[in-house]
Amino acid sequence: MTVWLLGDQLAPDATPLEAADHVLMIEAHGFAARLPYHPAKLTLLFSAMRHCRDELRERGYEVTYVEAETFGEGLDEYFGAAPGDALVLMDPPSHGAAERFTAMVEDRGGSLALVENDAFLTTPDQFDQWAGDRTVEDGFRQERWYRFVRREFDILMDGDEPAGGAWNYDDENRETPGPEWTPPPAPTFEPDALTREVHEFVTERYDDHWGNPALDAVVWPVTRAEARSALDHFVSTRLPEFGAYQDALVEGEWALSHSLLSSSLNLGLLRPQELVDAVVEAYRAGDAPLNSVEGFVRQVVGWREFMRHVYRRGMPAMGEANQLEQERALPPLYWDGETDMTCLSEAVSHVYDRGYAHHIERLMVLSNFALVYGADPQELNRWFHLGFVDAYHWVTTPNVVGMGSFATGVLSSKPYASSGNYINKMSDFCADCEYTVSRTTGEGACPFNALYWDFLKENEETLRGTGRMGLMYSHVDRKDEEEWAEIRERAADVREMAREGTL
Ligand SMILES: Cc1cc2nc3c(=O)[nH]c(=O)nc-3n(C[C@H](O)[C@H](O)[C@H](O)COP(=O)(O)OP(=O)(O)OC[C@H]3O[C@@H](n4cnc5c(N)ncnc54)[C@H](O)[C@@H]3O)c2cc1C
Ligand code: SF4
Repeated sequence: MTVWLLGDQLAPDATPLEAADHVLMIEAHGFAARLPYHPAKLTLLFSAMRHCRDELRERGYEVTYVEAETFGEGLDEYFGAAPGDALVLMDPPSHGAAERFTAMVEDRGGSLALVENDAFLTTPDQFDQWAGDRTVEDGFRQERWYRFVRREFDILMDGDEPAGGAWNYDDENRETPGPEWTPPPAPTFEPDALTREVHEFVTERYDDHWGNPALDAVVWPVTRAEARSALDHFVSTRLPEFGAYQDALVEGEWALSHSLLSSSLNLGLLRPQELVDAVVEAYRAGDAPLNSVEGFVRQVVGWREFMRHVYRRGMPAMGEANQLEQERALPPLYWDGETDMTCLSEAVSHVYDRGYAHHIERLMVLSNFALVYGADPQELNRWFHLGFVDAYHWVTTPNVVGMGSFATGVLSSKPYASSGNYINKMSDFCADCEYTVSRTTGEGACPFNALYWDFLKENEETLRGTGRMGLMYSHVDRKDEEEWAEIRERAADVREMAREGTL
């Protein structure tokens, strides 16, 4: 039996491999040029594929590894040598991929059987049964799903009750570190000869792509063994403070206490269950506090699984959604990082440097600004997709289009829009910024402020009655015409400066 392993299915012990003797892998170089993907992302992907190939060969599998321009050309070559072969493929999570691959294989005289994708803890059937009659239009709530998964898989439970007596320790998870705090160092992985060779190929072939082309951008595990060691490193050094600082932003720090495991999870190098096992074990051994462990478990089996299923149920509409009809082009600072706004300049430079920014930079800085600025959510989605090492359509789209841009109401009942206040509360950015966070109007006022109020006013018809927006609109209602005129003027100036690259 032949298993076709895609580039994000790199588990050398993936379930369908148990019954297989032959593996097909296709490195599609033209596919990697559809967008100007970050060189670190492409190096990671191709290097991890080649390492997986070598590991499978060492384990005794026969591996056909094809380098081609497209998947179609790769399959032509494969079926030229193995006419009529029957392939097995783990169901890819990105919309339409399974149908496209099935048609490509059948066009070439082969067959393709889809099996469950073990990169996820939960199956589509489990989610659909849990959802029952509820549809995407009704909206799904992550919190309910999360509790269902905790119970169903007996994760961090004491009998029928959640460990510690509560499902949620968010109140303990909104701290910001003091000035004396330094985060534990991020793990490092020395690029081996194979990674260096791939990096050379990537930087030559894709020399017009966006992102730091230097080898030191590739700080991500490329093998399962490295990914396991990244997990161990996280549990022993960063997990204890993960919870407290999970919403914090600190100048000059790109990793804080985050796990940095998303690229490994999304490539298949790690499975969600082993992350859960590792952190729960640390809690039971008294090595990590419950607020950190629960917070982490929520991200992995709550949010990640939820996003996968909501995307599945929400596509194809989610791929085109734009309920607020925002159409402005993404301002140049997303590409060059040139801005006096400390928060945005930090976040963009983190993405440029290594293809990564942590969750709060993604949500409350990068997508928050695009949202209140009025950027096209689908363009923002493409920017995230090409810039991040962990970005795949199935995960980036619900996060960017659903959560960050509020382009569909499927994922949340209110937009994640905020003024500079939130960033000031959660970071040390504003103290040194050229802009003044306490001012809304006039030259030098924090750009987030006027854009935020202008955004609420502009989108009043859609937002006023939505979910929990009542408090915000009570503030909107208190402003008089004179104040609105100044806000509009400042918002227009900010947008013009952003467009011209002078913000
Ligand atoms: C606008 C926006 C875009 C995002 N794009 C991506 C993306 O392309 N790929 C991606 O994997 N995540 C994405 N996320 C979710 C989240 O920000 C990243 O998973 C996380 O920052 C990865 O860093 P980490 O491994 O250090 O995560 P940690 O903070 O340590 O969290 C642990 C794990 O939880 C999972 N997780 C947490 N939140 C989410 C979520 N909302 N969706 C899916 N998984 C989650 C990830 O696998 C992550 O590795 C996005 C979030 C936002 C707001
Ligand atoms: S003052 Fe405004 S622009 Fe500057 S860092 Fe704070 S939130 Fe960002």
